[in-house]
Amino acid sequence: MARVAVVTGGTRGIGHAISIALKEAGYTVAANYAGNDEAAAKFKEETGIPVYKWSVASFAECQEGLATIEAELGPIDVVVNNAGITRDATLHRMTLEQWTQVIDTDLNSMFNMTRPVIEGMRARGFGRIISISSINGQKGQIGQANYSAAKAGVIGFTKAIAQENASKGITANVIAPGYINTEMVAAVPEAVLQKIIGTIPVGRLGEGSEIARAVAFLAADEAGFITGSTLTINGGQYIAG
Ligand code: NDP
Repeated sequence: MARVAVVTGGTRGIGHAISIALKEAGYTVAANYAGNDEAAAKFKEETGIPVYKWSVASFAECQEGLATIEAELGPIDVVVNNAGITRDATLHRMTLEQWTQVIDTDLNSMFNMTRPVIEGMRARGFGRIISISSINGQKGQIGQANYSAAKAGVIGFTKAIAQENASKGITANVIAPGYINTEMVAAVPEAVLQKIIGTIPVGRLGEGSEIARAVAFLAADEAGFITGSTLTINGGQYIAG
């Protein structure tokens, strides 16, 4: 039977590309999303991939959503923690709400999505947890104390669970994208974007498909010796040790 993969934020942007790449690689894919029903319906119609609406910021909603997917599609083998938001402001202007929304969605989601599936993965002796961090979690970014903290947290979370679950056939890895051509980046003012592109040695933004390819690589049964790693995909913009 095909392995079952869940992609959070799997209907738009990078997640959209990940969902398609995993389907093409033979997985039974479930795509989660938060609120954009129109984009989700279009995605479902175009790809045939079922969509599931809930917020990864809520543990109860994750438990319920994951249980529904397991009932409909079978035990979950692969979790791709991709959903994420930004609420940018320098710290001296940042509201508690901006801080909390980003920590809840980008960091607490790691617990919310992984805790409900980890026991099953351990019992079955196989699992892949692939989490999308960011270049800005590695190097920090002005205006993103919330986002940089959450995305750095994703790396620490992954390093811990990689060690905890290595003997059970479960790997946990991070992908840290640089600037990728999605709606999240389209929200950046054009002048700022051109400045950013000037700092990317490859000389362009990345594409969602370039991240998706790496997710499929890490999800594969053959990738069992890769765990606890952070793969940077950023056009050479920041070369982390
Ligand atoms: P987009 O804004 O294009 O898409 C975000 C997706 O996440 C949407 O499907 C959205 O659902 C979903 N989502 C948002 N909040 C929640 C939530 N609370 N619960 C469930 N789903 C949610 O983002 P990108 O594709 O650009 O980013 C994907 C990931 O990659 C994020 O983690 C981001 O931080 C990271 N990243 C992106 C970079 C970039 O340059 N784009 C660079 C580095 C990292 P809906 O459609 O319903 O709104």
